[in-house]
Amino acid sequence: MTTRIGVLTSGGDAQGMNAAVRAVVRTGIHLGAEVYAIHEGWQGAVDGGAGITPMSWDDVGSILHRGGTVIGTARSKDFREWEGQRRAARHLLEHGIDRLIVIGGDGSLTGTDAFRRNWPQLVTELVELGEISPETAAAHPVLMIAGLVGSIDNDLVGSDMTIGADTALHRIVDAIDTLASTAASHQRSFVVEVMGRHCGYLPLMAAIAGGCDYVFVPEDPPADGWEDEVCELLRAGRAAGRRDSIVLVAEGAHDRHGTPITAEQVKDLLAERLGEDTRVTILGHVQRGGSPSAYDRWMSTLLGYAAVQEVLDATPESVPHILGVRHNRIAQIPLVEAVEKTREVARFVDIGDFESAVLARGASFGEMLDVFERMSRPPSRTEPVEPMPRIGVLHAGGLAPGMNTAARAAERLGLTRGMNIVGVDGGFPGLLEGNVRDLTWGDVEGWTNEGGAELGTRRRIPSEDQFYALGRSIEKLELDALLVIGGYNAYLAVHLLNAERGRFPAFDLPMMLVPASIDNNLPSSELSIGADTALNSAVTALDAIKMSASAARRCFVVETMGRRCGYLALMSGIASGAERVYLHEEGITLAGLERDVATMREAFLDGKRLYLAIRNERANDLYTTDFLARLFEEEGHELFDVRQAVLGHIQQGGSPTPFDRILATRLVKHAIDGLADQLADGDTQARSVGLVDGVVTYAPVDRMLEHLDVENRRPLHQWWLDLRPALAAVAERGAAATAEETPVPVLRAD
Ligand code: ADP
Repeated sequence: MTTRIGVLTSGGDAQGMNAAVRAVVRTGIHLGAEVYAIHEGWQGAVDGGAGITPMSWDDVGSILHRGGTVIGTARSKDFREWEGQRRAARHLLEHGIDRLIVIGGDGSLTGTDAFRRNWPQLVTELVELGEISPETAAAHPVLMIAGLVGSIDNDLVGSDMTIGADTALHRIVDAIDTLASTAASHQRSFVVEVMGRHCGYLPLMAAIAGGCDYVFVPEDPPADGWEDEVCELLRAGRAAGRRDSIVLVAEGAHDRHGTPITAEQVKDLLAERLGEDTRVTILGHVQRGGSPSAYDRWMSTLLGYAAVQEVLDATPESVPHILGVRHNRIAQIPLVEAVEKTREVARFVDIGDFESAVLARGASFGEMLDVFERMSRPPSRTEPVEPMPRIGVLHAGGLAPGMNTAARAAERLGLTRGMNIVGVDGGFPGLLEGNVRDLTWGDVEGWTNEGGAELGTRRRIPSEDQFYALGRSIEKLELDALLVIGGYNAYLAVHLLNAERGRFPAFDLPMMLVPASIDNNLPSSELSIGADTALNSAVTALDAIKMSASAARRCFVVETMGRRCGYLALMSGIASGAERVYLHEEGITLAGLERDVATMREAFLDGKRLYLAIRNERANDLYTTDFLARLFEEEGHELFDVRQAVLGHIQQGGSPTPFDRILATRLVKHAIDGLADQLADGDTQARSVGLVDGVVTYAPVDRMLEHLDVENRRPLHQWWLDLRPALAAVAERGAAATAEETPVPVLRAD
């Protein structure tokens, strides 16, 4: 018999659940299994009948962009009872289902594990009651499960991100940006209540991304006397240049004695003590709503894809796993341990052991608490005793959303390390001309959420005849170090200056590169600032394009940016449900195009109404977007028509996403700390800071070329190319599953 897999969503809904369900259904079919949806969470299994239905490839079409979950979710009381679980087991066995993928929060996953443990006993009872045959019982002695964490709170210990958290952060940060503009106009204060009963992830990250003044989180309550501290900080912030004050309060915020701190209470405090016009906004269910972010679509797709492999590979002896995200990769996490550790955090908070609570949340949570504290605290007015090192901050290369966030973080964090941050206007040409200004805490106010680059960016790399003058300028400006936030040309420029240290001693100063490029084509960092924003812009545009086609049978050929790096093309393809993606890394051949035309014709004959092909702008210099569109049009005849669209610069503009703001802040924090250490040690090595396997790492610039495909301006190793099998599995109906189906790299739990 064909293997059957059940999939359900349970507990609170989360954006991205649909992407995961779609991926489970399609990957299951792709790998030869039959997939059943269990509707309304566990209740569908308890009720049976229409609660469990087979899913076809098309049943999960056009759902990627929808919030919530199309198969329904619920909190099932019946399932908590033995009797309810026995009925659920019977109904699953009626369909021959003994492999389940459950998408839900820690409650749902705990329930799933309890059900798994109870399964043998439940099956025995069903035989005794005559409800199933002994043969059925013998064929399904154990329940094999895989869990995916759907929870906007991002509260599962062991997984860096949960399904829905990134989208919730989008909603919160959008709201903060909106409030900030009206608050600044009236010099008002806002107190915003953010979800997070036990987990401070959303409020903390939103406070960093939104450039807020203060945040109350459950794991790190403020010290006694916090009322004075909050008022003092807000007062100092206004004095240093803030026109608005925004305080975030987690739903579950409390003081160190467990007494709740509410938004209303904070509002009264600010109104009374500071005489501020203060308003409260409770974001509530807005945080759960709306279309999922690009990340919640592509990552959930990969998670669903990996979950099917997990349950298909499972044996009766397998330990149950959750598939989560560790260091930007899919990771297997032992289910029981993860749920226990998650509950442990709440216990630490309950008993007032906050240090352990913060530690248990993971290293980066504590780090980000510290970063927020450093970024939000206005400077004290005391004059420094020693001369402060002067750090020149500049952008180079193409524009990337998040450059402003990074420059602001450099000023704020630099100040806390005793640095004088000197903003260079207009990249390397600006440095050459000496266009600089000392940045103050107040100067960078409001830069967090602005697209573009206040300091300006230029692609120009200094030429040999400019080296001498550039060196002179660096000396004249008395710069002690350079922080260069930018893209490919920024990297080339620093590499060049570094190589010329011998001839031009002025270049012998610490230089630190921070990756910022929508193309995500930089060495020694798997992600660069701006790529997530560009991806979200592309996905929003692709959603609109897809919707425009609902009336006709149409093929769209859409061109993304990225030059010869296919990151944007592939990831927007996964996130928007494209059928085909053309990358320079793979090339385009006539034979391949012929196959694509045949597939396309077959699909339209089969009733398909829309076919989306995405082409990376430099995928092939001769087989252009226009060429592909004409070819498909000609070959489509009367069967379908073809339209083309070039997404262009909308991918480069726009306000940076929360992810890019957080990434910018995190990378700059390490860049500044690294420079501070280098200055203290007299170490002048040029370095880049980046994410390698999800961990912030420094790489020496003099070895940069070893990691680069210089001709194609991209790294030699690109991790995301390994994600292509997942796209093939969910996008191409009938794509042959190969015996050696490449799994998405799954990291073993460490
Ligand atoms: P979440 O999954 O979002 O944490 P809940 O904690 O409300 O949400 O759990 C969702 C559902 O999972 C419950 O309504 C119930 O059906 C099931 N469930 C949770 N805990 C258990 C348990 N200990 N035993 C059996 N079922 C459970």
